[in-house]
Amino acid sequence: MPIDATPLRKVLKLECEKNYSNSAVIGGLDKFLAKWSANAEGAITDLKLLKRFNELRLNKFGYASLDRQQRVQYIDDILGFLSAAEKTVDKKVKAYAAATAILSHSKPKAKVEISMSSCSLDSPITIIKGISQTMAARFNKLGVGTVRDLLYFFPNRHLDYSLLKTISQLAEGKEETVIANIWQVREVRLGGKRSTEAIVGDDTGNVRAVWFNNPYLVKQLATNKQIVLSGRVVIYKGHPVFESPEWELLENRELTHAGRLVPIYPLTRGLYPRQVRKLLKGAIDRFSPVVSDFMPPPLKQRLKLLELSQAISQAHFPDDEATKVKARYRLAFDELFLLQLGVLNKKRRWQQDQPGTPFTMNDAVLDTFIGSLPFELTTAQRRVLEDVTTDLKNSKPMSRLLQGDVGSGKTVIAIAALLMAASNGCQGAFMAPTEILAEQHFSNTRRLLSAASREEKLGDCLYRYDSSLTQPLTIALLISDIKGSHKKEIQQLIQDGGIDIVIGTHALIQKDIAFNHLGLAVVDEQHRFGVIQRSALRQKGFNPHVLVMTATPIPRTLALTLYGDLDLSVIDELPPGRQEIKTRWLKPAQRESAHAFLRKQVAEGRQAFIICPLIEESEAVQAKAAIVEFEHLSRQVFPSLKLGLLHGRMPAAEKDDNMRRFRSCELDILVSTPVVEVGIDIPNATVMLIESADRFGLSQLHQFRGRVGRGQEKSYCLLLADNPSEVARSRLDIIEKVQEGFQLAEEDLKMRGPGEFFGTRQSGIPDLKMAKISDVALLELARKEAIGLFEKDPALQSPDNRLLAKEITRVWADGESEWS
Ligand code: ADP
Ligand code: MG
Repeated sequence: MPIDATPLRKVLKLECEKNYSNSAVIGGLDKFLAKWSANAEGAITDLKLLKRFNELRLNKFGYASLDRQQRVQYIDDILGFLSAAEKTVDKKVKAYAAATAILSHSKPKAKVEISMSSCSLDSPITIIKGISQTMAARFNKLGVGTVRDLLYFFPNRHLDYSLLKTISQLAEGKEETVIANIWQVREVRLGGKRSTEAIVGDDTGNVRAVWFNNPYLVKQLATNKQIVLSGRVVIYKGHPVFESPEWELLENRELTHAGRLVPIYPLTRGLYPRQVRKLLKGAIDRFSPVVSDFMPPPLKQRLKLLELSQAISQAHFPDDEATKVKARYRLAFDELFLLQLGVLNKKRRWQQDQPGTPFTMNDAVLDTFIGSLPFELTTAQRRVLEDVTTDLKNSKPMSRLLQGDVGSGKTVIAIAALLMAASNGCQGAFMAPTEILAEQHFSNTRRLLSAASREEKLGDCLYRYDSSLTQPLTIALLISDIKGSHKKEIQQLIQDGGIDIVIGTHALIQKDIAFNHLGLAVVDEQHRFGVIQRSALRQKGFNPHVLVMTATPIPRTLALTLYGDLDLSVIDELPPGRQEIKTRWLKPAQRESAHAFLRKQVAEGRQAFIICPLIEESEAVQAKAAIVEFEHLSRQVFPSLKLGLLHGRMPAAEKDDNMRRFRSCELDILVSTPVVEVGIDIPNATVMLIESADRFGLSQLHQFRGRVGRGQEKSYCLLLADNPSEVARSRLDIIEKVQEGFQLAEEDLKMRGPGEFFGTRQSGIPDLKMAKISDVALLELARKEAIGLFEKDPALQSPDNRLLAKEITRVWADGESEWS
């Protein structure tokens, strides 16, 4: 039966796939090749080939001792030899003959054991012996579907059962480990339950071990076997006893369950600790050698990182505490490094796609504007403005995230930047997440501009400034319910370049709006403005500078992680004179007195917000509930006060009207759905009363609170929660005590995790299993290395980086559409 050289090729190919780890065949490639060549030799008649063959054989056997690059070369050589053999005189016949000879001598009995299943780490876990469909379904619940997932299914923690004691050293109440001989095993009744009892001993004494409610062990523990016991020791009737310890018979293999650092895995219904541990141990022993290490060798060396396969196996079954730490470090670094590479890659791509428009700085414009402000900029504002103007001068488009706590004065920075754009003959767009906020930005912009120049009304929401600032400047507000014809007119003006600064909502980046020459886009309140919108903006035909502003103080680490494609500026200082907002969490019984307090404040000429109970996410339902609440408050609770209502479903004109009346003190109390959350600025408001405060996150509560305390008067935030959960209670405790936004954000992040922190899961961001978002040092190292790598090898083309490039694609593949 003619057999070709395909099996050998297969082995070699598998070896390539396994990244030259010498694991394609059991026993290693050397043994296999020796056998193969011994047989092949006789079949090779072509002298030249034979010589070549012997070269291969003499020089190179010892595959195991070669480094990776030499292995690659070696296998290349053999493959080259095989094709040469096939091409010689009798062409295939000869090769076939050779192969036949080889294989008939050695008999196919010398079966090449290729674990074909291990070809891909992406195979389902059911290829692993002992994992049935049912069990796979259970693993699925834990997010484990493939072999790779399993390798990366890390234990929550480890129990340290590595320190051996003698029986005489056992101490009460401690987790201890002994190795002993089993003298006796029997079934006993303990507390009416069938249980197992064993008496074990070493040179120093004997000790009893019991397993409650588990008679099955009797069969597994035979007398006179050596056993490792790890677990808590109690004293019973004066003698130490192991209560349901982890155990393992000491056989000729590595320990899994006891006598070492033992992994504790997250479990789900139908998965048991011993079983999962055993499966993991098997899977790791078998598959971790297959994992190819994508980390560029020079980097790995410089940072003294463990080999990937070693890191994986040590993260599960560490030799000791120090190696475990090293393993976790390597894996955490991987995650953050890949994350940074991904985000930086995106940034690079769009910065390269098109150059931006570098602005020339007009200091006179800037100085005049700053000089016209009714206040001095804070040091932090000046520093941030410097960051921004430096970016604007660059031909690489700005991509900056500006963070500043509520009330820190971000708007001024935005307007200054927009003026720069205008004085460079470019258009600027200023976008807010809601129409109310867009309107507020519009009126703020008008207020600040008219301090420095003469305002002329050209139309509804359309103004011109004949100014010392720059050439005549036209600004417009564009929101969805501006009247149809007028809207068209404004859109046309934007398209013709007749408007310099347009303020609006996300509607600004919708399809039917074309800019004449968009040079700068400012996006307020980032957490509602996703990556998708950002890139839509870039696709408006230009590559505008982008300034993203957020009042949700995102911890620096998280900002770098989630918005690693943005540079970061922080306003870490409030304007002078801001005061602490007294925050009180009230019992439901105190609602009456809260209302009384509001009346008192209003009597003193102040104003108040009341945030309606949060019913559900739907704006329609929320609006209805707000109307009901409003009616109740106006009729029953505050009949003698003037109340206004604000909800997301109101026509803009009505919202605008209510806002205006509130701002001009015609209204005493503004009842609002959570739409008021961000940005609204009413200096005379001193009380923020929040109903169902337990339903909001810390950052959101902080946003509400930031609506007051903007003027000179002492301000208050009152929190009402009818039946708060334990978690909610701890949130309310924290918000009572902590004023500082960044600290709150950190707390919030700790309590909720990054996914929830942002309201919706930011899909497209690879999962972090090992890395902690709080690990600033590692995150910064990962970022620095990622930046360095791109500087040296932008396309990741060098052989050292090729596997890494592949890994980035793999890790980021799922979120590509979100992130590109
Ligand atoms: P936020 O950062 O929350 O958007 P704003 O830009 O709305 O804050 O500013 C809040 C208030 O503080 C506004 O009334 C603004 O005019 C005022 N403000 C901004 N900067 C300063 C400053 N340096 N000194 C005093 N008041 C300032
Ligand atoms: Mg703001």
